[in-house]
Amino acid sequence: MERTYLIKPSLDDTLPMIDYGKGVYLYDREGKKYLDGASGAVTANIGHGVSEILEAMQEQAKKISFVYRSQFTSEAAEKLAEKISSLTPGDLNWCFFVNSGSEAVETAMKMAIQYWQEKGIQTKTKVLSRWVSYHGITLGALSLSGHTGRRARFVPLLEDFPVINPPYCYRCPYSLRAPSCGFLCAQELEHAIKRIGAQHIAAFIAEPVIGAAGGAITAPKDYFKVIKKICDENDILFIADEVMTGFGRTGSMLAMEQYEVIPDIVALGKGMGAGYAPIAAALASEKVIEPILAGTKVVMSGHTLSANPQSCAVSLAVLEYLEKNKIVSEVESKGEYLMNLLLQLKNQYSFIGDIRGKGLLLGIEFVEDAANKTPFPRNAQITQTIIALAKEKGLLVYPAGAGIDGVNGDSIIVSPPLTITKSEIEELVSLLAETFEGFSKQMK
Ligand code: PLP
Repeated sequence: MERTYLIKPSLDDTLPMIDYGKGVYLYDREGKKYLDGASGAVTANIGHGVSEILEAMQEQAKKISFVYRSQFTSEAAEKLAEKISSLTPGDLNWCFFVNSGSEAVETAMKMAIQYWQEKGIQTKTKVLSRWVSYHGITLGALSLSGHTGRRARFVPLLEDFPVINPPYCYRCPYSLRAPSCGFLCAQELEHAIKRIGAQHIAAFIAEPVIGAAGGAITAPKDYFKVIKKICDENDILFIADEVMTGFGRTGSMLAMEQYEVIPDIVALGKGMGAGYAPIAAALASEKVIEPILAGTKVVMSGHTLSANPQSCAVSLAVLEYLEKNKIVSEVESKGEYLMNLLLQLKNQYSFIGDIRGKGLLLGIEFVEDAANKTPFPRNAQITQTIIALAKEKGLLVYPAGAGIDGVNGDSIIVSPPLTITKSEIEELVSLLAETFEGFSKQMK
């Protein structure tokens, strides 16, 4: 093995060296072209190399790149907070800026606990979550994550916060169908609260569409209304983890808008900087911030680079770009177009079990036997094989669990930049078809 000084994700030497990106395409140093069918990790929402963003970067760098958050605020941070408040529903008016989705989730969790403390209630410290979920890699966020594979090594250090099943209609544990099922998987929250005691629970957190742990598992329409009602009735805050879904990915600025639920707290990341800067945020509603403002006036979270002016200016430029080019309003129709083409592939390949998702966040689950939904054996490494084959053909897709238990099952996420054109969608699907054809031949 050639000597390297970098710890690469897989510790091997097969990662190509990137050269540059433009639109939905990436080019490596060997001159190979890739269609970015996953926006990296569902991040590059406006595509690569957008000149307006590069200009905004330069403009901000000429003024100031860094100030410490307790010494100065900046025009970029103030304007970004105002923009986010104007783009999000309800009165989610307060932004706490951090640098990654994991930090946003950690901050959301701390805000929820602090909210109750400032109201004089010290016992509400648990934040419940669902199995088959991913909320981040730091220990607090990992405690919330119902992703058995990512938890495994650290279990003794983690809290047991995942307590209920996800809304995984393809493999419903009750063998029922929505909406006649009565959303029993959401009702599980009521039972969990009774067992644990609402006096111990600060909040419940969920992803609107389950990403890395489940391959775009999408809740049926009224699911989150049931969840929010249970939270409200038990004095428990509802945190939406919109790190993956936020800022247009599913066809609305927040995915929760489509579920007609306004969360108390929202975690944002990925699409906020669209890969041009590390930036994320926890948003709090007036209700949540009120006792904090009336009390200690300090949110007990923060990082050296929180509200970094450079990152804030970039995020502001990304959000303005989304708005100016009316990108989000086209996501639903682009998503439908992509979904319909993928459904045609489902008819051709028996190893495609389910195709699901919302907007341009779609998932494909692979099974050994479509009729019985039998998963492939874990050691067959199906997801890894398909991802590698696609990459060989010049297509990037994102690996995910299939939601069976966060480890078993195979699925990929297809989530190209929101700026993708119709003909690029066709190219993406044709590369995917070639990949599946190759995989089909390998299986014989
Ligand atoms: N929350 C969700 C829903 C995510 O998908 C992710 C990352 O995939 C995170 C949180 C963690 O974000 P980050 O990797 O930026 O720390």
